[in-house]
Amino acid sequence: MIKNRNDISDCFKWSVNDLFSNDEMWQTEFDELSKKINDIKNFNPLTEDNLIDCLKKQDELGLRTERVYVYANLKANEDSSNTFYQGMASKSDTLISEYSSAVSFIEPSILKMDENKIFEVLNSNTDAAVYKHMIKNILRTKEHILPHEQEEIISRFYEVSSAPENIYSMLNNADLVFKDVKASDGKVYNITHGKYISLLESQDRVLRKNAFESYYDSFYKLKNSISSIYAASVKNDVAISKIKKYNSSLEASLFSVNVDKEVYINLIDTVNRYLPLMHRYIKLRKKMLSVDELHMYDLYTPIIKDTNTYMDFENAKKTVLCAIKPLGEDYSYEFEKGLNEGWIDVYENKGKRSGAYAWGAYGTHPFVSLNYDNTINSMFTLAHEMGHAMHSFYTWKNQPYVYGDYTIFVAEVASTVNEALLMEYLLKTTNDEDKKMYLINYFMEQFRGTLFRQTMFAEFEMKTHEMCENAQPLNFDSLCEIYGNLNKKYYGDEIINDKQINWEWARIPHFYNSFYVYQYATGYSAAIALSKKILEDNGAENYIKFLKSGSSDYSINLLKLAGVDMSSPAPVENAMKVFEKLIEQMENYFERMNK
Ligand SMILES: [Zn+2]
Repeated sequence: MIKNRNDISDCFKWSVNDLFSNDEMWQTEFDELSKKINDIKNFNPLTEDNLIDCLKKQDELGLRTERVYVYANLKANEDSSNTFYQGMASKSDTLISEYSSAVSFIEPSILKMDENKIFEVLNSNTDAAVYKHMIKNILRTKEHILPHEQEEIISRFYEVSSAPENIYSMLNNADLVFKDVKASDGKVYNITHGKYISLLESQDRVLRKNAFESYYDSFYKLKNSISSIYAASVKNDVAISKIKKYNSSLEASLFSVNVDKEVYINLIDTVNRYLPLMHRYIKLRKKMLSVDELHMYDLYTPIIKDTNTYMDFENAKKTVLCAIKPLGEDYSYEFEKGLNEGWIDVYENKGKRSGAYAWGAYGTHPFVSLNYDNTINSMFTLAHEMGHAMHSFYTWKNQPYVYGDYTIFVAEVASTVNEALLMEYLLKTTNDEDKKMYLINYFMEQFRGTLFRQTMFAEFEMKTHEMCENAQPLNFDSLCEIYGNLNKKYYGDEIINDKQINWEWARIPHFYNSFYVYQYATGYSAAIALSKKILEDNGAENYIKFLKSGSSDYSINLLKLAGVDMSSPAPVENAMKVFEKLIEQMENYFERMNK
């Protein structure tokens, strides 16, 4: 029975009142900001002389607006049936968009200024120098900015350009229906996107097969529509990249985060060299499930039966604290304080937002929302979200507001390092062999799902965009051929390439936000490589420097600071060594069991 929010003890709730002590204070700030926000337009026309004052004003208003926005939304997320806070949240949405539109003249104005004069100003005093990286990051886009009229034409087509993504989302979330499926005992299950993977994790093979077939059948029925939508999305990427004078759509996309094409190619090449490890894992999976034929629908089910995975919150906190000790005294101290001083909203209640996340506003402490359910999995979620929170904590403490965020490229590093440390700690301290193997299975599945699978996606996207750039047709058959071949290459000969898997691409929403998913794979390998460094040769000091750096430099440089160079194969290679050790342990276990 899920509790009402009021029935949960305050010691398990976050203290959102650290942002505003009460709703009245929030309202006062909201009213004042609503009046003040447009004052920034007084800086328009922007010149080198009033630039720094304008940027400071932007920061001040940005910070205050963010706090208003975060408070209202955290409150709203506590309980979706609370109409008072839902109303506050939607008011704060409006405020955020007013802010964005009020400051929207700044970037184009900077791009029009004389660069030498800007740098004169930036070098004139320390207050101004803070903005150097930010300004450089704006100026580097200059060569891809078109004359005003042309930019205006592009912006008028913005909604049309994003149509493929929106149409796919409508189709996928609203119109697609899946046929109910039966388990081996005759019980009927209904399929949704959310339930699909948990059905594939079932121990009941009949249920897995039926779910797999029903799910893919629905996509097959729309095969021509979905192929056309995806082709339109790729064509749009290619067209925009040509108009904006990039060498390719891949380069155009990576330019926005200032990541070299080599990083992308290097990831794919290195993972490809280690595919024999994936094949070895698949072979082991086939043996352990003792099936004559391993099918694609046998990929998600755990090869180790659930053992005792109960873990209450008190024990989880203690365990995670022990696991993150290698990160040093200061990290541990702040982490423990965070656990006990109102950062975390622990348990589920009626109307609370599902899933887990870390969030907050510069200048206060971070907030973490969990739906803790007393399992080992939710202990990993605690470690993960606290990793994000500590990243924000250190960044906010050490960076000015303007660098108080961080990019997606580095974000998952801080969370995954904590998960990896927790995993290593549990593997070291668990004597129960079944439990240990359960953990190893969990870890291996992370490698498969995050490092291998996302890289396969990245390779698919690269191929489809190249085909479009070479004027080759993208249709259902050609897309399935690319995907099917990749699937064979990644999973090897020990698994049956069921025909449905050829159109798995049709069910991946991320493909409409192209060249994005590779960051999951780079982030994961960076984190695994770093956690190895932290445990083996005291890499914690540089890692903490990285956590303190926010967005004060380009992501690749920040990761170098932490100790990994993502343009070299080393981080992925190091991660693969960890994966190989896991397979070895599982193979040995299986042999012992069958003696
Ligand atoms: Zn995360």
